[in-house]
Amino acid sequence: MLRNHLFNIFFTLIFFGLFSLIISFYYDDVSRALYDPAIFPTDKSFDLQACQSWRDDTRQFVVSNENKAKQITVLMYHRVIPEDQLNDTHVQANGDLFSTIILKSEFDEQMQILQDAGYTTLTLKELELFIQGNLDVPERSIVLTFDDGFKDNAIEAAPVLRDHGFTAANFVITGAVNMYDSAYKPGEYQYFSVDDLHNTCDVFEFESHTYNFHKRMEDNTPYLIGKPDKLVQEDLEASIVNLDGNTQAFASPYGAFDKENIQLFKQLDFNMAFTVIPGTVKQGTDIYQVPRKEVLANERIQDFKEKIGLQDGDT
Ligand SMILES: [Zn+2]
Repeated sequence: MLRNHLFNIFFTLIFFGLFSLIISFYYDDVSRALYDPAIFPTDKSFDLQACQSWRDDTRQFVVSNENKAKQITVLMYHRVIPEDQLNDTHVQANGDLFSTIILKSEFDEQMQILQDAGYTTLTLKELELFIQGNLDVPERSIVLTFDDGFKDNAIEAAPVLRDHGFTAANFVITGAVNMYDSAYKPGEYQYFSVDDLHNTCDVFEFESHTYNFHKRMEDNTPYLIGKPDKLVQEDLEASIVNLDGNTQAFASPYGAFDKENIQLFKQLDFNMAFTVIPGTVKQGTDIYQVPRKEVLANERIQDFKEKIGLQDGDT
């Protein structure tokens, strides 16, 4: 009887020992399976400070009065996809590419045009100082921005930027960032993983495009306009926490914002906010309504050159 009892205890101990060994062995896989890949925790940060320090190193450009910029174009991109990876998900019902998709070959060509023409890409801090009249920058200065934080930016756009010695701002929906990396699938709506952020933080400065408010209400009103101010504030605060407290810039989803939003941007200490209203940036431009020009799918070279203020033949 006693022997039986001891045997049971012994067996139970062995069982739990093996069980916990197996659990600890698979802990990563288990937590990975339980983690909702659609949402990054509100209280965690991407831990990017160290590799983003370059964004604060404002350069002092040596420019004469004639050669300093009077206006600067901010370009806006979304996705960059190689031609041979296009599929049905990238194409509208009428057969055209979605306007937000630029072919990698086109993107490469556009960056080559900028490089050949001697353009300098500015950081957002440098753009801010230019707007305030506190920094002279070369006439051929430009700011490149990406919205949403698609994984193709890390896989396709970042190497092209690096090759041309350029940097860009990337406005990420921080809650959409995946804590765990996964294989790149160009046919899916796939966002940056934390690893992607770290692997590309030499060319991208990461900014807020909300935490989880890149959405519309049932009547199509964007969340920033339609949701109660308190919820908008909580959402933006979560994005700031994810971005290690960085408040250099915000870009509104769909370019939609109202007066209350602008008050909130100020209250949360954002230095600047970007619209999708086309225009060029000048000294004195409203720092909370900085215009941007979207580069569209299948954009003609001529149109691109006009967009950046570089006429055809004028290099
Ligand atoms: Zn967006």
